[in-house]
Amino acid sequence: MPLVSAGETRAVRLTLILTRRCQKRCPECPVAVRAVDMAPAILKKAISLFTAAGRRTGAVKFFGGEPLLRFDLVKSGLSWLASYGYDGAVEVGTNGVLLDAPKIRYFSRRPRVQINLNSSVNVNRRFSALPNLVWNLLIPSGDPLSALRVLARIKTVSGGASPRVNVLPAYYRPWGAAGLVLLGKTLKRIREMSDAGEIRLENAARRGPVPLFNSGFTVDADGRCYYGNLILAVKTDDPAKALLAGDLNLREISLAGRARVDYPAIAVKIFGVKAVAGGFAADKLAGRVLWE
Ligand code: SF4
Repeated sequence: MPLVSAGETRAVRLTLILTRRCQKRCPECPVAVRAVDMAPAILKKAISLFTAAGRRTGAVKFFGGEPLLRFDLVKSGLSWLASYGYDGAVEVGTNGVLLDAPKIRYFSRRPRVQINLNSSVNVNRRFSALPNLVWNLLIPSGDPLSALRVLARIKTVSGGASPRVNVLPAYYRPWGAAGLVLLGKTLKRIREMSDAGEIRLENAARRGPVPLFNSGFTVDADGRCYYGNLILAVKTDDPAKALLAGDLNLREISLAGRARVDYPAIAVKIFGVKAVAGGFAADKLAGRVLWE
């Protein structure tokens, strides 16, 4: 049975959570970090099901936690995707801590693989050697303007090139009125830099029903499958059940084919009403300032 998402007949987006572990503890991290890694057999099964019936296109994300803690799985996953004929988009989201010279050489030989780098953890000149690099720029709710200092550093390490930047206001925080004013100022400056050609904004239109997370198919590190990567933030059983689609540990995979998942309601269960309202307010502001 091919992997499918809610409302889709075939999965076009697949998030593979290779590990729930991470070396960092970022203050506004939405991920429920824990000591679980994906078994290679589960990864192979997920990729085989995703590419069933000759799928060659789509979007596959290697994610965590910190996926480069399991670089072996990233390499195996890329190799299996290639061997099954997949030719679509591939992304690796990383904090860059383990992105050393050999790994940069590895990804340099695979320019189709987009590296999404968490700039709140690591901004380093050596990353500019990556041929397909997007800097994730977090705007913290406590000090939004500090993102501009990180952006200045990104520009410095990028030499003369205009870095590609994906702007991410800290979603699911109770942004108050004062915080939103500072967020607006920060976004406005980023927009000016983009208009001047100093940076290239990579923010795509929001695809999911809630900010930050998408509703594509997600395989968690323990082999369970979910409708959407919102499962990354889930800490208790109740919201997890609402997103559960199947389990790759079972011989016969049963995908419930749930047509409707109420993502905003689940987000409220995870983050609380105020934080979700803050997330939607920050998302709306970012859309208006960066794109209108
Ligand atoms: S590096 Fe990423 S996964 Fe790790 S704590 Fe920071 S935001 Fe969370």
